Amino acid sequence: MGRRGDCGVGATAWRTPSPTDTVAGPLGQLGGTIVEMTPEQALLRVIHCLDRAHESGFKAKAFARALDVVRTTPSDELTERAEADTLTDLDGIGASTAAVIADALAGREPAYLAKIEAESRVPITPAGQVYRDALRGDCHLHSTWSDGGAPIEAMAATAMAIGHEYMVQTDHSARLTIAHGLDEQRLAEQLDQIAAVNADIAAAGHDFRILSGMEVDILVDGSLDLADEMLERLDVVVASVHSKLRMERGQMTERMLMAVASPHVDILGHCTGRMVGKRPPSEFDADYVFAACAQFNTAVEINCRPERLDPPRELLDVAIEYGCWFSIDSDAHATGQLEWQPLGCDRAAERGVPIERIINTMPADDLLAWTAAA
Ligand SMILES: [Zn+2]
Ligand SMILES: [Zn+2]
Repeated sequence: MGRRGDCGVGATAWRTPSPTDTVAGPLGQLGGTIVEMTPEQALLRVIHCLDRAHESGFKAKAFARALDVVRTTPSDELTERAEADTLTDLDGIGASTAAVIADALAGREPAYLAKIEAESRVPITPAGQVYRDALRGDCHLHSTWSDGGAPIEAMAATAMAIGHEYMVQTDHSARLTIAHGLDEQRLAEQLDQIAAVNADIAAAGHDFRILSGMEVDILVDGSLDLADEMLERLDVVVASVHSKLRMERGQMTERMLMAVASPHVDILGHCTGRMVGKRPPSEFDADYVFAACAQFNTAVEINCRPERLDPPRELLDVAIEYGCWFSIDSDAHATGQLEWQPLGCDRAAERGVPIERIINTMPADDLLAWTAAA
C-alpha cells in the first residue's frame, strides 16, 4: 500500500508556518485568501486527497508519476511548456496532471484540486465529532520506513495540520518482510531520525512531538517480533497479528493473551484482522482477551481503516463491558489516511465508548506516563 517516497517535504517546511508549506495544509483553513502553490505542492495535495479517498488506482499512479516528472524538470522549462501548452509532451504528464501544473504556475487554485478536496472530505456524525475533538494524537501510522507512502516528516506535517499534538511512529517489525519491516538496526536508525525531526519541529517553534513506537508482530507462539531491550526503548508499542489468522480458536486466544499480558505492549492492534467483505475475523475467546486487556492495561485499538473497522461492533461492545482502554488510530499508510479517524470516532460514539478511556485523548506526557505504568 502507498507509494514509497512520493510525499516528501523539505526540512524548510518546519520554518514556514503557512499551511500551504506543508503537504497537507487544509486549504479550507485559508478562508478564501489567494492560494499560492507550486506545482509540486499542488500535486502533493491532490495525492493527499486521493489517499484520503482511498483511491490507489490509475489516477493516484498518474499523479505520483507527474510528481516525479515535476521534481526532475527545471522550473523554467515547466513555465515555458505551460505557456506553450506543451506540458503533455513530457513523458508522464497527461491532460489532468498538466492542468493542475498549469493552474498552479498561473497562481490559480487548480480546478481539479478544488473538486477532489470537496469530494474526498471524510464525513463525521455530530456524535462522532465529540470524540474527534477530544483526540490529541494518533498512535498507529506508517512511513516509507516500512510500507507507508510518505516519509516521517510529511506524516508529521499532516498530523500537525489536522490539529494533533503528537503522533506515534509505528512502522512494521522485521518478520513482516512483505511490508519491509524494520529489524533492530533499522529501528535504531529510525529512532535517530525521529529525534532529529523532533529537534527541527521544536526549533521551528511548533508544539508537536513524534513519539517512537512500532507495530510489532505477534508471532505464532505469542512472542513479539522484537527484542525486549528495543521494546523498552519505545514510547508506545502496538502489537498485531498479521500471520496465521485462521489459527484454531484456543491457540489464537493463547497467542493473543501472551501479547496482551506483555509489559511492553500498550495497544492491541486491529484485533480480528478482518477485511470487510474479503477476509472474515479471526476467531478467539473475546472474554479472555478483553478481560486480559483490562487487567494488563493494554488498550484495544479501534482501527479506523475503512476496510478494517476493527473490532466489529459486537466485539467492541464486549471490550466496553470489560472496562478496557481504547485507542482510536488511523493506521495511516499515507498522509491523506491520517484523516480517517472520523470513521473510528463514529463507531466509538455509536457503541458508547467512554471518552475518558481513550488513551489518545491524553496529552503526550500523560500518555507516556500511562504507557510507562501500563
Ligand atoms: Zn497491522
Ligand atoms: Zn499498521
